[in-house]
Amino acid sequence: MDGRNTGSGTVYSRKARQRETTTTQPSDRTAIGIDLGEHNLYTACPVSVTNPTDAYTVRGTALCTCLDELRAQTARLLGSEYDRDTIAAYVQQRRDELVTDIDAAARDICEYALTCKDPILVTEDTHFEPDLWLWLTAPTAHCGSSWLLAAAHLRLRTIAAEYTLEVRTVPEAYSSQECHACGVLGNRHPNETFWCSNVDCRIDHIDADFNAAKVLAQRYYAGKRCARRSPRS
Ligand SMILES: [Zn+2]
Repeated sequence: MDGRNTGSGTVYSRKARQRETTTTQPSDRTAIGIDLGEHNLYTACPVSVTNPTDAYTVRGTALCTCLDELRAQTARLLGSEYDRDTIAAYVQQRRDELVTDIDAAARDICEYALTCKDPILVTEDTHFEPDLWLWLTAPTAHCGSSWLLAAAHLRLRTIAAEYTLEVRTVPEAYSSQECHACGVLGNRHPNETFWCSNVDCRIDHIDADFNAAKVLAQRYYAGKRCARRSPRS
């Protein structure tokens, strides 16, 4: 992975920690929203965190670069004399390397989560099956939505199970457009910032990954949904 930020600069041990598991009330637990993305593969935000720089992030830009290169390489191989089985075996090998990197990122997130009291990871309720070959060979596939984010979601659940960390999903709808402070829908800009449309809200522009992770953490608790809802919901 190409970079990590603890905000506080704390280095977290990889050693699994003993945790208290006696409390069962949601209100007693520390919900940690996990936003998935390409710039930041994982952004982890405990519900109590108010400063965006205190969210824990693991970047995904190096993985995106590897995927773009593999996609171009696969196109070249498919146009060469190599047979399809040989190319598929090569892609599988590269896939395993990519998953190893994703797993390392997921472990970082789990190690961080274990520094919180009675943690529970909270993610979107999306369930896409990651299919690398399909993404590599589809003419218009987009990096994150078609493989990387689906793989990152799946691997986080697998790695969290190794740590006996509970993962809960909450509704995905508008989680990246809702303002964590006032619940009104705003806009997520391409430059990784979120803008709240509520003139009475203290939030103007803020880190979009932090905002989305915080919204997910809040949705773990009862009664936390955005103030402006879709006509379908
Ligand atoms: Zn707001």
